[in-house]
Parts: sequence; C-alpha cells; structure tokens
Amino acid sequence: MSNLQEMRTVAHQCPEYVYMGDARASLMAVMDESSNDVRCDTCVHWENNRCAIDMYNRVLTGLDQT
Ligand code: SF4
Repeated sequence: MSNLQEMRTVAHQCPEYVYMGDARASLMAVMDESSNDVRCDTCVHWENNRCAIDMYNRVLTGLDQT
C-alpha cells in the first residue's frame, strides 16, 4: 500500500478527520464532495508529515483487526 493510499484509507476511517480546505464546511458537505480528497494530508491535524494528535497509528491498528 502506498503512503497516499494509506493516508486516504486512514482518513476515511478516522473520527478526527477535518478537511483543511474549508474549515467552515460541515462534515456532511465534505463527504458530499470528491471523497478522493479525504486524506490525512488534507486534514487540519496533519503537520510535518505526521498526525499531530497521534490518531494515525491508532486508526491503522484498528484497520488491521478487520
Ligand atoms: S491526520 Fe490524524 S486526525 Fe487527520 S485524518 Fe489523519 S489520522 Fe485522522
């Protein structure tokens, strides 16, 4: 799995995802848009190539259990 695909998979499963492109948009509006943009690197919590609130590995661990 590439990093980009992984970030996309994690962001889709992550309860803390907030689209950085328009912070005023509701989650529903975000989900209405192209879901291809839902990735960790479009999330407000993504800083310096990592998740600032340490959700990334937690979500990945959860994915492994499916
Ligand atoms: S950057 Fe962090 S909070 Fe945002 S979607 Fe990815 S794991 Fe979740």
